[in-house]
Amino acid sequence: MAGYKHPCRYCDKLIPPDSNVCPLCGKVNPLGSFRCPKCRSPIKKEWKKCNNCGLDLEIICPKCGKSAFFGDYCFNCDARLTVVCPNPKCKFEQPPISDKCAKCGKPLKVRR
Ligand SMILES: [Zn+2]
Ligand SMILES: [Zn+2]
Ligand SMILES: [Zn+2]
Ligand SMILES: [Zn+2]
Repeated sequence: MAGYKHPCRYCDKLIPPDSNVCPLCGKVNPLGSFRCPKCRSPIKKEWKKCNNCGLDLEIICPKCGKSAFFGDYCFNCDARLTVVCPNPKCKFEQPPISDKCAKCGKPLKVRR
């Protein structure tokens, strides 16, 4: 099956089957199913919660403020669904899972 290409789920162009990033549109996880940002288990677009860890899969996009499915990107504005820690010494980029930084514990501005 070497050389067999799969369509990117974002741009629909055919890309190599082992791509972690789409070489054409630059988005991460272009192949396969959506994954929970917390536990990385496969999730479905119509789910409200992750069946493995119970994470709320409906979130408010930090960029456009609209309610979005918690995949890697917002379907409304195409922004990557991550927040950056406001601590200048940390700046850790993470999915908006909790209201505290996963690295330094400083409160994050996450709207839910
Ligand atoms: Zn693509
Ligand atoms: Zn999960
Ligand atoms: Zn958005
Ligand atoms: Zn931090």
